[in-house]
Amino acid sequence: MSTWFEAGQAQLDEIARLINLEPGIHAILREPMSELQVSIPVKMDNGEVNVFKGFRVQHNNARGPYKGGIRFHPNETIDTIRTLAALMTWKCAIVDIPLGGGKGGVVCNPREMSRGELERLSRGYIDAIWRFIGPERDIPAPDVYTNPQVMAWMADEYCKLTGNYNPGVITGKPVAIGGSAGRADATARGAMHIIVEGAKHMGIDLAGATVATQGFGNAGQNVSRLMHDLQHSRIVAVSDSKGGIYSKNGLDPSEVAQHKAKTGSVINFPQTENITNEKLLELDVDLLCLAALENVITEANAPKIRARLVAELANGPTTKEATDILFNKGIFVLPDLLCSAGGVIVSYFEQVQDAYNYYWEEEEVLEKLHKKMRDAFQTALAESINRKVNMRVATSIVAVNRVAEAMRLRGWA
Ligand code: NAD
Repeated sequence: MSTWFEAGQAQLDEIARLINLEPGIHAILREPMSELQVSIPVKMDNGEVNVFKGFRVQHNNARGPYKGGIRFHPNETIDTIRTLAALMTWKCAIVDIPLGGGKGGVVCNPREMSRGELERLSRGYIDAIWRFIGPERDIPAPDVYTNPQVMAWMADEYCKLTGNYNPGVITGKPVAIGGSAGRADATARGAMHIIVEGAKHMGIDLAGATVATQGFGNAGQNVSRLMHDLQHSRIVAVSDSKGGIYSKNGLDPSEVAQHKAKTGSVINFPQTENITNEKLLELDVDLLCLAALENVITEANAPKIRARLVAELANGPTTKEATDILFNKGIFVLPDLLCSAGGVIVSYFEQVQDAYNYYWEEEEVLEKLHKKMRDAFQTALAESINRKVNMRVATSIVAVNRVAEAMRLRGWA
C-alpha cells in the first residue's frame, strides 16, 4: 500500500508521461526541495513542559516564494505535509499566481488546549522555523484547525524576532493587522465561482439545485451559505466529524452554523434527520461539496456516489482510482487544485497589499478573485476537451507545464 505522498508522485509520473516531461525536471518535482522537522517545547497550564513535533516542507519555488498553510492536527505526519506542499505548487500554478508550494503542521489537538497554551505553541513554532520563512522566502497561512488569531500570534512573533514590521510573512491575518478584506470566505467564494462554471458546462441550473456538504468548518460553512444565499440552491445535508443532518426541504446554513457554535456539532438540528457521513456522500443530489479531509471518496464508495457535480474544497478528498470511477459514471469532478484555490489567491492579494502597505476595498478583492477563478477554470476545461482527459488530469497538466517552464528558464535542468 503506497503512502499518500507516493500516490501523489504516481499522479505526477502519469502527467510527466502525458506531456513528455524531461527526466531532470520530473526528478526534481518528485521530491520536496527541503524539509524541516522541529521540536517545540511548550509550558502547559499545569506547569509541565510538553514537546510538540512540527514540520515545514518546501516543495518548489521556481515560480516564487513557497506558500502554504499550517495545520494543527493530532494525526499530522510528514507524509501528509509533503503531499500538501506539492499540491500547493500545482495550485498556485493553475491559478497563475507567482508563488511556489509549501506546507506546515504541528502534531497537537487544539481542541484540548487552552488559549494560552495555543498561543505559546504558535509562537514556539515560529521560534523554531523563522529562519526558513519570510515574505520573500516562504509564507505560511491558516489551514485545518488554525485561524486568523493563530496567524496574528505567529506574525507578531516573527516581527519580534526580525525586529521589523513584516506582516507579509504570514497571510490569513485579521484585517486590523494587515489582513485582506474578503480573506475569511475566499476559499468558499472561489469554489462557488468554479461550481458556477462547472454547472454551466453541465447544464445544471443552480437555483433550486440540491447540495450536500461534508465538513462544516470554514470552507464547508461558507460554501453552503454562499450557494444558499447567492445561488439560491437547496442545501439538503451538511456534516462534521460527529455526523450529519438531512432535510429534504432544505436547511439555512447560517442557522445551522449558529446551532453548531452553541452545541459543538451540526447534529440534532431541529426538524432534520441525523445521518452518517457515509450516507451523506451517497445522497442523490446535484452538487456534493467535499470540505472535510483527504481520501473520503475511494474505490470502495465511488460506485455509490450519485451527485452530478463534485466540488473538492478539501485537499485530495477523492483518490485517483475513485476519480476514474466518477469520470466513467459521467460525474463532473471539480478538482481541489481549482476548487480550493480561492484562499491562496486572496492570500497572495494580502501579501501584495502588505508589501505596498496599502489596502484594497473588498469589492476590488472579490472582483480580482472572480477573474482568477474563471480564467483558471476555462484554461483547464480547454485542456480537458483538447486532450479528452478529466478535469483533474487537465488541471495538473497546465500546472506542471507552468512550473516546468519556470524551471527551464531558470536553468534548473
Ligand atoms: P476547518 O477545521 O474549519 O473545518 C473542517 C471541518 O471538517 C469541521 O467541521 C470538522 O468537524 C469536519 N470534519 C473533520 N473530520 C471529519 C470527518 N471525518 N467527516 C466529516 N467531517 C469532518 O477546516 P477548513 O479550513 O474548512 O478546511 C477544510 C478542508 O479544506 C481541508 O482539507 C483544508 O485543507 C481545505 N482547505 C481549506 C482552505 C481554507 O482557506 N479554509 C483553503 C484550501 C483548502
